Amino acid sequence: MTQIPNWLADDYQNLIQQYDQNKLPHGLLMVGHEGNGSRELTTSVIQYLMCTAPVAGFACSECKSCQLLASGSHPDFLKVIPEGKSLTIKVDAIRQLTHLVSETAQQAGNKVVYIQNAEKMNLNAANALLKVLEEPTPNTFLLMDVDELSRVLPTVRSRSRLVRLSTPSQAQSLAWIAEQGLDEDSALRKLSICFDQPYEAIKLTTEAEQAWFEREKSFLNHQHFTALGKYVFSQELPVLLEQVLCWVDTSLRQRQDAGKPQQSVSSAMLAELSVIPAVLLFQFRDYIVSMLKSVKNQANLNAQLMSEQIAARWINMRGII
Ligand SMILES: [Zn+2]
Repeated sequence: MTQIPNWLADDYQNLIQQYDQNKLPHGLLMVGHEGNGSRELTTSVIQYLMCTAPVAGFACSECKSCQLLASGSHPDFLKVIPEGKSLTIKVDAIRQLTHLVSETAQQAGNKVVYIQNAEKMNLNAANALLKVLEEPTPNTFLLMDVDELSRVLPTVRSRSRLVRLSTPSQAQSLAWIAEQGLDEDSALRKLSICFDQPYEAIKLTTEAEQAWFEREKSFLNHQHFTALGKYVFSQELPVLLEQVLCWVDTSLRQRQDAGKPQQSVSSAMLAELSVIPAVLLFQFRDYIVSMLKSVKNQANLNAQLMSEQIAARWINMRGII
């Protein structure tokens, strides 16, 4: 059975209560971050929906249905994930799903479809899904998890029930990480690097931690935009841009004296940024946010040009002071 972290326990209870009272909607959009345990929650709800003999509010793990689900061969369950180089969910996957929901359940229980990262559906796939959402078949549930709701088509959103999953407090995250056997210092540092997402933090490897701080050094050490541009181009842009944003935000918070100590940004970086006027830092922040948005939307980008621009803006910002 999947373990649900305690910050998601109420969300879980609400969903299964709705199910027990026949009030659970047919299409559910679970909005939350994988790094906060959203997948574990969705998986537990699916296990409950498929189990034929739940015990005390959880799937029994022993009935035939639970066993088929655990072995990945339940005929009434389908999981759809983004595929291919572009990591999209295409219409073929949705057609497969349409087929499953139109059939009678083979195990005489519920039929459940789980769409992981529903925001990755392309337009055709989303349109094909509308029919399924509009014409629910009995005992059928469609669970879609999304990291970013704004990227889900409004037509899909309006036909589904939004379930906004709770996020952990830092104390909850630290307690949970301690249960996984990590000491407090590492836990704080890893959480900080992983934007306070505990499931990400426990997966963070030593190499990834080193790479995180190496990126800082590269940004501080490169004095010419061509060399820095080359470096930026060699990196995974969304990861790098999120980190750059983290430096800027930490520096801006520090000025207001509102930020707690951050272990994800070195004092060298903070010292460097502290002398840059806030207005310039805000302009740079806006620019990075817009770049990040373009990268995430996979707009038609010239990555090399973009990398040079990012480098030039950075060098320029530091040079003006
Ligand atoms: Zn069971």
